[in-house]
This record gives sequence, C-alpha cells and structure tokens, in this order.
Amino acid sequence: MDTEFSALTTPAPTRSRALATEAVHAGRDDLASLGLHAAPIDLSTTYPSYDSRGEAERIDAFAATGAKPEGPPVYARLDNPTTARFETALARLEGAESAVAFASGMAALTAVLLARASKGLRHVVAVRPLYGCSDHLLGAGLLGTEVTWTDPAGIADAMRPDTGLVMVETPANPTLAEVDIRAVAHSCGSVPLLVDNTFATPVLQRPLEHGARIVLHSATKYLGGHGDVMGGVVACDEEFAATLRQVRFATGGVLHPLAGYLLLRGLSTLSVRVRAASASAAELTRRLSADPRVARVHYPELGGAMVSFEVYGDPHRVIAGVGLITPAVSLGSVDTLIQHPASISHRIVDEGDRQAAGVGDRMLRMSVGLEDVEDLWADLCQALSDGSAGAVPSARGQEAAGRETQPAGR
Ligand SMILES: *Cc1c(COP(=O)(O)O)cnc(C)c1O
Repeated sequence: MDTEFSALTTPAPTRSRALATEAVHAGRDDLASLGLHAAPIDLSTTYPSYDSRGEAERIDAFAATGAKPEGPPVYARLDNPTTARFETALARLEGAESAVAFASGMAALTAVLLARASKGLRHVVAVRPLYGCSDHLLGAGLLGTEVTWTDPAGIADAMRPDTGLVMVETPANPTLAEVDIRAVAHSCGSVPLLVDNTFATPVLQRPLEHGARIVLHSATKYLGGHGDVMGGVVACDEEFAATLRQVRFATGGVLHPLAGYLLLRGLSTLSVRVRAASASAAELTRRLSADPRVARVHYPELGGAMVSFEVYGDPHRVIAGVGLITPAVSLGSVDTLIQHPASISHRIVDEGDRQAAGVGDRMLRMSVGLEDVEDLWADLCQALSDGSAGAVPSARGQEAAGRETQPAGR
C-alpha cells in the first residue's frame, strides 16, 4: 500500500513545517515518487485477494487493535487510501497523532460518544451553546448519553465517576462565545476534553496544543470550503483513534472516497481562504458595530470568518432581503451565507435552552466568504434597511451594488 511505500521513499522532514506548507503537502508526500501530481481517487468497495489467510490475519489484527490495517485494503468500510490521505493531512494540521474521518460531523460526534459509552462512560459534561444538532444528540438520549450542561467554571463540579467526555465549542455556534481551552482542560482532570474546532480551523487555533485531547470538525464547513462536500473528522491520539476506527467499521459512517479527495484538496487552500475571509469579517464587524440598525455584534477575539449580530428590526426581513449573500444554513464556503439560528441551525434546541445560551430571536449568523468586502457591505446594508424599515423585500439590492441582474428565484 502506498503509505508503506512512502515510508521507504520519502525522507522525514528535518524541521517542522509551517501550517501553510503542511496544508499543501501533508498526505501527499509520496505522490512524486509514485509519478503523480494529484492524489489518486480509489473508489473500490472491495479488493481482490488470492490470499484469504492473509486477509484473515488483517481482519484479526484490526479487530484486536483498531490499528490501520497493513497491506492491501480488504473492504471499503475498513479502510480507504484516498480518505487516509485526508486523515494524515488533517492530523498533521491539528498536531495530532491520528485522525479518523466520517460521513459527516454528526457521524464523527456519534462515533466519539459510542466509543466512550463502550467503556461504560455514558455521562458527558458540556458547555452551551453548541451547534444545534450536537446539543440535540447529547440531550435527546438517542445514544443513551446523559448530559450535564454547565458553564466552564462548573465543569469540575459536574464530573461523575462515569463521565467519559467534556465537550465545548469555541468559538461557539452561533454566538461566537469563546472558552479558555487551557483552563477548561485543567478542570477536566483525566477526562478527555473534546473541542469542536469547526469555526476556528487549525489555521486559527490548535486545541491539542492547549490541553484538549480530541478535536472534532464538521469538515462540511471550512475544510471542504466550497459547499459541495459533507464530512466529519476527529483528530486525537492513536489509542482513541483505534477505538474510533472500530466504531466506524461496525457502524458504517464512512466518508466517501470522493469526499476524501475533495477534503484533501480543500485543505490545500484552507489557510488562504480562512485568512482572506477573516479579514473581510473583521471589516464587516467594524461597520456593523457602528450601524444604528444593529443592536449588537459578536465577533471572536481569536478572529475568524464568522460574524453574528442582533438587529433592532425584523431578522426575517434581513434574510429575505439579501441578494449577493446566500440565505442558507451551513458555513465555511467560498460564498457568504447568512441564516437565522433560532429558525434553522438551532431550531431543534428547546426554546428556553436556546435563549439561555444567548441565541436570541434577533440574532443572525453570517459566514463571510471570499467576495469583495465592498460588495458584501452594499448587500448587507440594503438587507438591513429592508429589515428596519419594514420595506417590501423585492424593492432592494440593485441600486446599492449597481448590478444589472436580479438573482434567480425572487
Ligand atoms: C455543522 C456543524 C456540525 C455538524 O456537522 P455536519 O457535517 O453537518 O454533520 C458540528 N459542529 C459544528 C460547529 C457545526 O457547525
């Protein structure tokens, strides 16, 4: 298999490389020696072998340890070489020993919870807000998980003998509230701290360097970066990764190899995308903060490409009033998206819990993309006027941006 091949032919880097360099090269170190430039996509679901004794040994070894199978792959639910490249690259970017990829961010979180429950550790301590569906998965008991919600200062007191995980999101979805990872990790003692790093990406924050033990990403967002691929990934030590691989094999939430390819490709532009979009987000934050139609702006000290803000007027009219900006849930794409968390991303969270976590009805969450910031501001300004004046949503947009064309479907 090409990973063994690479170990023989690729000299180990003599110094640690910068993140921007790793983003382009990690997981691809062996390509030149294979005579390739782009990573190959292996779509096989099964692999022919005349050596069934050898296959039996590989399956036994995997069942016993969860280590990445050696030798040729056996079946796509066990292992896929294209996805493995993405895992290698993401582990390198997060400074982790290993990474394990899944079909979506929720499949990744599910695997983490099942892996802990398999050791009899069903209790989770978590800090709100979390992404709406993560909140739902922890709280609804679908996986037999029991959750204690607390603020960061209450984590130590919330621990029980069966606590298997502490979970935080920072910056959090959608309030962009930040937690001090190092302080929280200290409160966790020997219980692993999971940080959902979807919003920051390893470009802005590497939680393992601050004491977290598990990093979770919805790869659907910035890692893919173009709104056309769904995936999830967990970066952690090899011991936990081995358990996650066993859970993935048994439950089947595998990433499709084409998605593995697209995510690997997405990583190569991750740092330029995140830096460019963050610069625009910081500028829009400045302008929104000075705007009389806006009650409050949330933007992380860490920076990033997400901005949330609360309007005095009708947030639904702001959503209905955008033209250039796409009114859609999700985030981390090259184009700017805006959505109303109380209606969509956090709808599934009980209203009282949502409000208590700071997700008010007037909050809008914007994922800033790579458009020119002046075009974005013109569109946003127009939509804000619609929201505050109560104007008819169709009477907007074109003059501000000076455009000829009307977006489809309005
Ligand atoms: C979207 C999201 C998830 C869930 O990921 P999917 O890929 O949609 O399953 C988890 N955490 C955060 C912070 C998210 O934004």
